[in-house]
Amino acid sequence: MATTERDYYELLGLSRRASDQDIKSAFRKLARELHPDVSEAPDAEERFREVAEAYQVLSNSETRELYDRYGHAGLKGGGFTPGSFDFGNLSDIFSAFFGDDLFGMGGRTRRARGADIAAVVEIELAEAARGVTRDIPFQVSVTCDRCNGNGAEPGTSPITCPACGGGGRVQQVSRSVFGEFVRTSSCPQCGGSGNLVTTPCTECDGSGRKVAARRLDVTIPAGIHDGQQIRISGEGHAGQLGGRSGDVYVRVRVHPDPRFVRDGDDIFSTVHLNIVEAALGTQANVETLEGPIEIEFPPGTQPGEVRVLRGRGMPVLNGFGRGDQRVLVNVSVPRQISDEQRQLLEEFERLSTHETYKKDESFFDKLKSVFR
Ligand SMILES: [Zn+2]
Ligand SMILES: [Zn+2]
Repeated sequence: MATTERDYYELLGLSRRASDQDIKSAFRKLARELHPDVSEAPDAEERFREVAEAYQVLSNSETRELYDRYGHAGLKGGGFTPGSFDFGNLSDIFSAFFGDDLFGMGGRTRRARGADIAAVVEIELAEAARGVTRDIPFQVSVTCDRCNGNGAEPGTSPITCPACGGGGRVQQVSRSVFGEFVRTSSCPQCGGSGNLVTTPCTECDGSGRKVAARRLDVTIPAGIHDGQQIRISGEGHAGQLGGRSGDVYVRVRVHPDPRFVRDGDDIFSTVHLNIVEAALGTQANVETLEGPIEIEFPPGTQPGEVRVLRGRGMPVLNGFGRGDQRVLVNVSVPRQISDEQRQLLEEFERLSTHETYKKDESFFDKLKSVFR
């Protein structure tokens, strides 16, 4: 049995510190490229064998340690014979490890699932608060209705592919260092469909699919966050050979609203009072997601105070209730005053006592409640 003497880490393009996961992913990637059923390169089979051997050694902690310490000689000394596996088993191992049929060796003709489509929709924060339905246009490849997806001009029918007898796959027996093995691959004549179209459909040129403009009413749930995706199952591109359609993923962008800052399900806003309003108390308009509401601020309202409007925040996505709105009070101090105003303020100051600015003991606690 031939043994490669090339460095296993080098073969997988990894450093010696590579994790098990790194090894697995590197092998997975290379195997997809180099598998003899997939690759056209003349040395693909040889390289695949080397890479598979490297993976076999490095994916096992015992043999990896042996190799790390003593190299190829260590493996031989430990009685390890590389390459003592076959491609058939390898495919099974892949299914078990990675949950997919890496080389399409399942035996049956693969009915490829259609590709997914990505779309983006932009909405305002207030729309995110109440939920909204948007009509989203996109291009999708659909089954051709003229030929019902089989690619043959109506009135004609596809013939059974003579190369594969309709099975869509061809078998090839080859010899390798492992001995004889059977390779199954997609039939090159019919591309795996098992049928050959002799008179292509004029609408789709025989592909069985065509591009159509579609619109989709997408319901965006209340409480959605910026960047979240909505998956619409089965509305993506049509599958090949009758395979199921892909999905549409709609990414939702929620525009920032200059009036509010969103933090999870809570929102923050500010209200501006002037010193007289803050000192004497006032009714002020406060913006909420549902529009302005009037709030009463008592005499002596301080800058930095926070008014919590329970249940005025964003709805909880797929849940119950809503977050809160926290309104931060900003008190505007005059920047420009007339002589008369100056006199009045000086007069005011003259009449002030320590009672005028008596500390509110709970001020700091109130401030802290902004950050909860
Ligand atoms: Zn057609
Ligand atoms: Zn065929």
